Amino acid sequence: MEFELKYTPAQEAFRQEVTAWLAANVPDGVAVRPRTFEESYALYLKKRALGRALGVKGWLYPSGEKEYGGGGLGLDQIVVLEEETARLGLGLPPYYDSGGKMGAASIRVWGTEDQKKRFLPPIYTGAVRSWQLLTEPTAGSDLAGIKMTAIRDGDVYVFNGQKIYIGSHHGADRYWTIAVTDPKGKRHQNVSWFMIDSATPGITTQPLYMLSAQSEGETDEFGHKNIIFFDNVRVPADCLVGGENNGWKVASTHLEVEHSGQGNIRTNPVWIALLAHCRTQMRDGRPIIEDPEAREKLAEIYSRLEAVRLLSTRNFWMVYAGEKRSYHGSQTSYLRKTTNLWLTKAIHDLLGPEALTSDALYGAMGGIAEMQQRRGIVEQHPGGTTDIQRVVIARRLGVGAREPQQAGRLGEEGMARKAAVEA
Ligand SMILES: Cc1cc2nc3c(=O)[nH]c(=O)nc-3n(C[C@H](O)[C@H](O)[C@H](O)COP(=O)(O)OP(=O)(O)OC[C@H]3O[C@@H](n4cnc5c(N)ncnc54)[C@H](O)[C@@H]3O)c2cc1C
Repeated sequence: MEFELKYTPAQEAFRQEVTAWLAANVPDGVAVRPRTFEESYALYLKKRALGRALGVKGWLYPSGEKEYGGGGLGLDQIVVLEEETARLGLGLPPYYDSGGKMGAASIRVWGTEDQKKRFLPPIYTGAVRSWQLLTEPTAGSDLAGIKMTAIRDGDVYVFNGQKIYIGSHHGADRYWTIAVTDPKGKRHQNVSWFMIDSATPGITTQPLYMLSAQSEGETDEFGHKNIIFFDNVRVPADCLVGGENNGWKVASTHLEVEHSGQGNIRTNPVWIALLAHCRTQMRDGRPIIEDPEAREKLAEIYSRLEAVRLLSTRNFWMVYAGEKRSYHGSQTSYLRKTTNLWLTKAIHDLLGPEALTSDALYGAMGGIAEMQQRRGIVEQHPGGTTDIQRVVIARRLGVGAREPQQAGRLGEEGMARKAAVEA
């Protein structure tokens, strides 16, 4: 069966336009792993500038509606953009923007017209970057168990509490967060979502360094998280998205996107680095790739990673086309996480001890092999652990339940596009 996408001459012409633009606008060194904080900060500034330039073209959030500053592009063009930026070791956006990705998707479904006009353009054009703030010290998998409160006081909500495992390095402009708005209310009927300005007085941030950060430069969304404290933070009431105490419905959209709805349709960058390494590095007098056992392992790695990529592409298409989803997001998230853990051992088997050090002289793939050993483990947790993905899959399939649970709403724009194509 042929799963790969085929491209028309018009789509290939768009690819030419994209590659030419990227060649002229992507600064040197954006794919190089930084080793110090200064290098990482310089890289972050370059990526933000690139994000704004992509925003001008409508290519930062190509699926966002044009009227709100997005690209309004079709699926085929989005795939081309994802593929061509991935070839340069970049994602879209080229920096960590979890609150932008999940917040924008949720606001598209649950926000008022005024909120769409206010919150979406700065995200889609790269003027702001945003983090998602969900987890608390006593509420991770059990998101409905959060304790941070946001209590209405006239025309503001007053926030008190803390969030943990948040964001990455170098700060964010906006926080997309969930809080308890009715402390006496029933579970699932007492929470609400807000898009808030991170500079609001009363917010403080404390860094949290993870197993996945070995050098100061690795302080990205896997390596450097934060604990964020809210101490009588007064947030304008019009930052509430989706209605007071209606937050569990908004959460179902947010989590559906997080489990696998947007992007991630590019080839795994670890695979690209691994293949290049095996083609160029010698073992027993020949390139590693000429060793039959290495080839067998590489073929297995490629097949597994490709299955993840194709499922991500399917999910992406389902969202875009307005197809009804069920277990699909969690299925892909589960497979991605377990495959990445398996990949750590596969790379170790293939390369031996050089996969275990990021030493400049002995570390394989410029340290990427060693980084994978740590990140494969850490990746089991964010965005719903592997256990939680299995729980969701079972519920959606109706295993052990009277009837299958529905997936969260993912927006009407897909339905509209589908209708337009069919008309
Ligand atoms: C690298 C990284 C990045 C992150 N980024 C963010 C972020 O940007 N924003 C944010 O808000 N949070 C973020 N998180 C937090 C992440 O969402 C939580 O770690 C995750 O939800 C798990 O919660 P927990 O750590 O409290 O573990 P717990 O929920 O306490 O789980 C502990 C263990 O119990 C298992 N378990 C829990 N409930 C069940 C169940 N019902 N059935 C079966 N097993 C269960 C879990 O699978 C896990 O193995 C990040 C975490 C990491 C590691």
